[in-house]
Amino acid sequence: MSQIFSSIKEREEKLLLRSYSRYPLAIVQGKMSRLWDADGKEYVDLLAGIAVTALGHCHEEIAATLEQQAHKLWHVSNLFYQEEQLELAEVLLSTTHHDKVFFCNSGAEANEAAIKLARRYYKKVKQRDAYEIITLEGCFHGRTLGTLAATGRQTLSDGFEPLPEGFRQVPINDIKAMEAAITDKTCAVLLEVVQGEGGVIPLPGDYLKALEALCRKKDILLICDEVQAGFCRTGCFWAFQNYGLQPDIISTAKALANGLPMGAMMATSEVAKGFEAGSHATTFGGGALTSAVATQVVRIMLRDRLAERAAKLGQALIAKLRDLQQRLPGKIKDIRGLGLMLGIEIGENCPQVWQELIHRGFICSLSHNVTLRLLPALTIDEADLTNFVQTLADILASD
Ligand SMILES: *Cc1c(COP(=O)(O)O)cnc(C)c1O
Repeated sequence: MSQIFSSIKEREEKLLLRSYSRYPLAIVQGKMSRLWDADGKEYVDLLAGIAVTALGHCHEEIAATLEQQAHKLWHVSNLFYQEEQLELAEVLLSTTHHDKVFFCNSGAEANEAAIKLARRYYKKVKQRDAYEIITLEGCFHGRTLGTLAATGRQTLSDGFEPLPEGFRQVPINDIKAMEAAITDKTCAVLLEVVQGEGGVIPLPGDYLKALEALCRKKDILLICDEVQAGFCRTGCFWAFQNYGLQPDIISTAKALANGLPMGAMMATSEVAKGFEAGSHATTFGGGALTSAVATQVVRIMLRDRLAERAAKLGQALIAKLRDLQQRLPGKIKDIRGLGLMLGIEIGENCPQVWQELIHRGFICSLSHNVTLRLLPALTIDEADLTNFVQTLADILASD
């Protein structure tokens, strides 16, 4: 551990409320898929701020938009009409079948908005006392009290009880369990098409289609949490589009403003009737500065066809990893994912492999201590991915 790093770590321990367990790195600078630490060491970033900086760090065009808007208007509150919000809404809605959007500031908030809209739609529009939301084991929907209840993971909610009522959880890939859990109190199913924090678990298309049909049959809503898997990462603009689903509501955030905090919840015009003026609000939601940046982000994603790029790079990467899996029997337990959202399950020595990757200049995340999770920028050079596979091969072969 270098002196510079130790002193940063020491300062933080004095100053910040303890809530994160950090990686042993202090990052001071970034450029596209490169990061530099406090000692000047260079890294290939395969994590992109947990699927946030999908266009890369300090992208020139985004930086230019940010600067331009910084001299025009930052924030006036949602008491006023702002065209920046409308520009963003137009380009966002062009990517999906949804009709209306609500802007907020994070993934958890987008899910809160989705939960509130689903409940209020049933209470006020359908006039039915249905409020319960069913989620899937292994999911992650955020850290507010409501989204913790939706996430239903004891380790995350320990000490924070009581959580809001009205959530129920079933195992994944079990349509019978889902059917049994739906009652006349159920208003929606909330799911991630590819579970992210759960360890990169793509749900099978057949299951998703059966689940959507079940939602239609029971007259309940389907909500897709696209916070991590959205924005071109899985090979389509939205992950649900890989399977031709038509969710009533989607929640988004992470990559939306390439690192500025922003979230959005989108709904069909029918379900959007659940909100009226005063139903829901947030001070910062859809601020002019973040909206202008996000508009540019989405335009670039569409212009540069980053969904197709993610599909292509993801397929090539998976093929290389499968080849490696065959060459080194027993070293890689599983390879999962869609597009550039990939999990490489290594098993119990995964923490050492992950640490060694950092040592050799590759940053990815360590998921549940057994899986390497890759969420690189969609603009990453293919050579960086090839070098990563080669480095992983060297590490696995020598341990
Ligand atoms: C990160 C994440 C969230 C929470 O987003 P925050 O911005 O941290 O509140 C919700 N759902 C999914 C699928 C996520 O990956």
